[in-house]
Amino acid sequence: MKVIKFGGSSLADAVQIRKVCDIIISDPERRVVVVSAPGKGVNDPVKVTDMLISAASAALENGTEAGLAAMETVIERYASIARDLGVDHVMAEIAPDFRARMELDRSLPTKFTDAVKAAGEDNSARLTAAYLCKLGCNAKYVNPGDAGMYLSDDFGNAQILPKSYELLNKNLSGMEGIIVFPGFFGRTEAGETVTFPRGGSDITGAILAAALNVDVYENFTDVDYVYSANPHHVENPRPIPVVTYREMRELSYAGFNVYQEEALLPVYRVGIPVNIRNANNPSCPGTLIVPERNSEIHEDVRVAGVACDKGFTSVYVNKYLMNREIGFGRKLLEMFEDEGVSYEHTPTGIDDLTIIARSHYLENGVLDRITARIRSELGTDDVQIHDGLSLIVVVGEGMKHAVGIAAKATTALSEAGINISMISQGSSEVSMIFAVDTADAIRGVQALYNALLA
Ligand code: ASP
Repeated sequence: MKVIKFGGSSLADAVQIRKVCDIIISDPERRVVVVSAPGKGVNDPVKVTDMLISAASAALENGTEAGLAAMETVIERYASIARDLGVDHVMAEIAPDFRARMELDRSLPTKFTDAVKAAGEDNSARLTAAYLCKLGCNAKYVNPGDAGMYLSDDFGNAQILPKSYELLNKNLSGMEGIIVFPGFFGRTEAGETVTFPRGGSDITGAILAAALNVDVYENFTDVDYVYSANPHHVENPRPIPVVTYREMRELSYAGFNVYQEEALLPVYRVGIPVNIRNANNPSCPGTLIVPERNSEIHEDVRVAGVACDKGFTSVYVNKYLMNREIGFGRKLLEMFEDEGVSYEHTPTGIDDLTIIARSHYLENGVLDRITARIRSELGTDDVQIHDGLSLIVVVGEGMKHAVGIAAKATTALSEAGINISMISQGSSEVSMIFAVDTADAIRGVQALYNALLA
């Protein structure tokens, strides 16, 4: 059995949904189908999820009528797809569902917005199931909450509750026919609708793959492969046929957004391979994400890819004899914790320590408060802030068996005239991270790609 997930661009209009259903029907093992909400399409510049977020804001700011007015555009989008597919009858369920969400309690805005956002995938699943039935399949829409997809009550940022795996297995494994399951949301223990972070339909698919212990989780999107660099940064980067979970995690962390970064965990734990494929080119084998790959055989697969992400700030702290001061690091990190800042890296020297965090956490006076506390409470000799940083990440399981990759990388950056503010190699040796000024980041990626992957 396979779990198969389709992203928003694959469901953007009737043409795309026909392709999707052909793909489903062409393999009888494709029994559990997870769908996103319609995304950007040829004639649709805005994703349904974004339209729903706007409708929710309209209701929150200007009342139910304003929300309902915005919702009519979304309903018309579904109605036009349903007409094209010849399943108009499903609108008798879809249209009232969209409208009813506007009547929900708005006292907790995040909860209300989640209930509205979730309607995109929910009704996309109704639509897809109706069309599969029209094609003669035994397909049915399954509601995530009813199936046992219980999530934490962090609206917009939910996490799976452990009991869900067993419940989903119990409720879904005996079902006949094709299950069409909306991605992106589940239910809290109190019975509320709650969503994962954006892109969360990938997470739903991964959870179902793990709960049902399937052979493979096929994730259809709109690219043939995961590429070893962002095609906007490097011309014709090489495709990655096989990549490990750890490599994929590091690449996603640094800006590869083909696959939602939190969506690896459920499958990683049980070792189910994920196959990233193109719904517009289903004969292409795509990229396989697996527990291990043999990177020792060929020199050229030691490095899987180079990624880069901007928007980081570093806080450099220096104090003479810091290395002897027990508890210094804890006190420093507590200052970040007290402000709710999650940090990314902490490279250290003998008497200095740098904390690197995403800049958006440090806005609205947070950074000023932290630096004031560092100066007054830690008796430091120097504190320096550097913002506008990007992190370039070179990822490859094969690096730990190879001598000289770091030398090649730093030489490439220095030949490109790029100053490295920080180098960090994680203990796992799966990645090497370089902090550079954002103005130099794309040139840095190109230099590293040419030196290590071209
Ligand atoms: N529709 C949601 C989003 O745009 C979830 C998803 O597509 O995975 O983020």
